[in-house]
Order: sequence, then structure tokens, then C-alpha cells
Amino acid sequence: MPEKFDAIVVGAGPAGIACAYELAKAGVSVLLIERGEYPGSKNVMGGVLYRKMMEDIVPGFHKEAPLERPIVEQRFMMMDKASAVTFSYKGMEWAEEPFNNFTVLRAKFDQWFAQKAVEQGALLVCETVVLSCIVENGKVVGVRTDRPDGEIRADVVVLADGVNSLLAKSLGFHKEFRPDEVALATMEILKLDKKIIEDRFSLEEGQGCTIELFGDATKGILGTGFLYTNKDTLSIGVGTLLSGLIKHKIKPYELMEYVKRHPMIRPYIQGGEPQEYLAHLIPEGGFKSIPKVVGAGVLVVGDAAQLVNAIHREGSNMAMTSGRLAAETIIAAKGREDFSEASLDEYRKSLMGSFVGQDMKKYKDATHHFDKFPQYFEQYIPMMNRAASQMLTVDGASKREKQKKIWRDIGNFRQKFRIAKDFYRAWRVMK
Ligand code: FAD
Repeated sequence: MPEKFDAIVVGAGPAGIACAYELAKAGVSVLLIERGEYPGSKNVMGGVLYRKMMEDIVPGFHKEAPLERPIVEQRFMMMDKASAVTFSYKGMEWAEEPFNNFTVLRAKFDQWFAQKAVEQGALLVCETVVLSCIVENGKVVGVRTDRPDGEIRADVVVLADGVNSLLAKSLGFHKEFRPDEVALATMEILKLDKKIIEDRFSLEEGQGCTIELFGDATKGILGTGFLYTNKDTLSIGVGTLLSGLIKHKIKPYELMEYVKRHPMIRPYIQGGEPQEYLAHLIPEGGFKSIPKVVGAGVLVVGDAAQLVNAIHREGSNMAMTSGRLAAETIIAAKGREDFSEASLDEYRKSLMGSFVGQDMKKYKDATHHFDKFPQYFEQYIPMMNRAASQMLTVDGASKREKQKKIWRDIGNFRQKFRIAKDFYRAWRVMK
């Protein structure tokens, strides 16, 4: 191995691989270090991969990547204890080229993506933990690994080491994240016959569906559940802010079992054989939790930079885009032979100008708002279910009587005013 590289990328998730791929493609010598046995071995994702951001890096990837199913329908289930109001969009335009999104299994997908970076010329080293950055005269000049003689030098180091990013923390870029800034998600992969999946989710051969679960899926705690179709498996999971788990004294695996037994979910997963059980943190603090992302000789990308849009469950696309933008900055900085903080700050500017920065900013108060006012999940979703049940049950009562009953259920004038205020506030934080 050479003693010095142009760039070292720490972490072979979507952010790190995207960055290494783009650097290698431009002829920059790059070392990609991964602590897992192989890329993807440590990675967890419900499984929606966004085509556009991947296409920006590897055009035509869907023809060869190990994808599960193109998603043709997205459902949103507002759950109460034994009912659900479900919205959905199904579009046949998503069933054809160029497709929209795909479900993936990260253990397979990350390996394939990393191999593409290797084909471009990146050097991938697995089973190696980066312990710290080497800092000299205030500039990051390399990394220390857990290998014997494990110091490696580079002009620039990219931290793509995921949500905890101990490396960014040790550089003083962020503090320990608070329990209301990170969600803990658990998920299971259940084996099920292909044909059964298609019948249960009303899909034609090869097509996929996602269901996002709100309300009782998390027992009213701020968070979501999900149920996604893969080729011959289902991915089911549930995640809530750590602060919610602590406050409600619920263990993540209890929530997972609760979702699996829920009468709205049970029929979909019946007979599914558990294959894998996974748990992972998700950065959900939003815009205000983004740490410092640039220093002299160092950039931070993906989950390490807390780039997740929890409202739209987008993370992998932000990770890839940030990795790509970091690579573009490094290529330009190499042309100038200037890896100072001022030179690398181009990355922060292009990140904030891209959809990543704009969307993070748009929802900057959303998570904290819904965390502060738990009634959206605890009260309003059950209320919506009661109203639907009332209106759709044909029991001889006139529709006007039913409307009156629903109106009474909402509460007295003060409660109605409070609800109107809550919906106005929700609109303000989402607009
Ligand atoms: P990661 O994927 O976490 O990769 C970091 C890599 O760094 C890992 O491979 C790790 O092993 C390695 N590493 C860490 N420390 C070191 C070290 N010191 N030395 C060497 N290597 C190191 N996003 C979506 O877009 N769609 C979804 O449907 C979706 N669902 C999700 C469901 C769950 C349950 C979870 C947990 C997340 C989900 N996300 C989803 C978010 C998405 O997974 C992340 O945003 C994305 O993986 C971030 O990519 P990354 O490369 O920044 O980090």
C-alpha cells in the first residue's frame, strides 16, 4: 500500500462509496476504509434507494445493480389499535424505465456499489477500524487505524463513518447527540414466497410496494414503522426517537413485536420466516443538528453530517449526493493544491445550495415540533380513525347525525380551537 494517498474515505456506506467512486473516476488516488467484513455487512436501511441520486453517480445502474423491486405504490397507514386510515399513490409510470425508487438489501447493494468504486480505481480495505485522525498544525493529514503500522497519510480525509461519527466528534465538530436528535430503529427481514408477496400487496410480477406506518405502530410515540416488499422477503421495522423510548419506558424489540402482531400488519407478514434482525441509529435532529462539515484537510458526509430528512425517510440519497459533492470539491482543491478549510468550504456551499441543504432547512423545526406536541400521533390519528369508522358504518343513523357525533368527539370549543392551532402550527413547520 502506498504511504500517502490523495484522499482517504472512512466508511463504505452510500456516502463514502459515492465519494470514493467519483474521486477514483477523476484519477484521484483514494483509499476507502471499512470496519466491516465487507461493505454493507454493518449497514441497515429499510430499503428505499432513490434512483436519481444513484443515477447521477452510476448512469444506468439499475440494469446491473442487485435491486429488489421497483416501487410502484407508496401507502401511508394512519393506525389506531384495531383500524387504519390508509392513503396511497400507485403509478404505472414507476413500473417502467427510468423507474422512480427501488427496494434494496444493503448487504448486497453496498458490496456491489463498492465494487464499482474499485473498478474505477479506488483501493478498498475492509476489517479495518479508523481509530482517529492524524492532526498536524491544525490540519488533518491522515488516519490511525487498528492495523499494525496503521498510520496512513493523505491530503484530505473524508469522514463517512455514519451516524455516531466518533471521528468528527474527536475533532470537536459536534458534541454527544441528545436522545431527541437520534432515533433507534429495529428491523427484521422475513422470507416469504414471491407469489404470496405479490398477491398480498396486489402487485404484478416483479413490482414493489412500500407502506409507512404512523400512530399506533409506535404506540403513539413520535416515529414511524415500515413494511417494504423485496423479491422474496419483506423488510419490516419501527423506529422512534430515543427520547420517546426513554420517556415511555418501552424497549425497541417490544415495539417491533407489537407492530408484527398488529391486526393491520399481521395478515401481510403471516408465514414470514425471520432471516435477519437488525438495529441502528438514525440521525433525526434535522438542520440544527448538522455539525461542522469542513475543516482543514477534512470533510464530513452522509449520516456523519446528520443528513437525513426524517419527514420523507430520505437518507441514502442525501448520503450519496453529499459524497459526490465532497468529491467534486476535492478534485477542484487538488487542481489548486489547496486543502485548507477555506478551499474545502466549497463543499459546504454546494451542499447547502443542493436539495440536501434546502430540504434540511425546510423541515428544520419539524421533528422538534412533533416531539414537543405528542397529540398529533397520540390523539389526532385515533380521532381520524373514529371519524372514518363513524362515517363509513351504515347503521341507520343519518349522515348529518354522524357528522354531529364526529364533531362532538372532537371536543368542546376550546379543544377545537386547540386542534385548529395545532394544524396551523404543523402547516407552518412543514411549509
Ligand atoms: P452508513 O450507511 O451508516 O455507513 C457508514 C459506514 O462506515 C459503515 O459501513 C460502517 O461500518 C463504517 N464505519 C463506521 N465507523 C468506522 C470506522 N471508525 N472505521 C471504518 N469504518 C467505519 N434511507 C433511505 O434513503 N431510505 C430508506 O428506506 C431508509 N430506511 C432506513 C431504515 C432504517 C432502519 C435505518 C437505520 C436507516 C434508514 N435510512 C434510509 C437511512 C440510511 O440508511 C442512511 O441515511 C444511510 O445509510 C447513510 O449512509 P452513510 O454512508 O452516511 O452511513
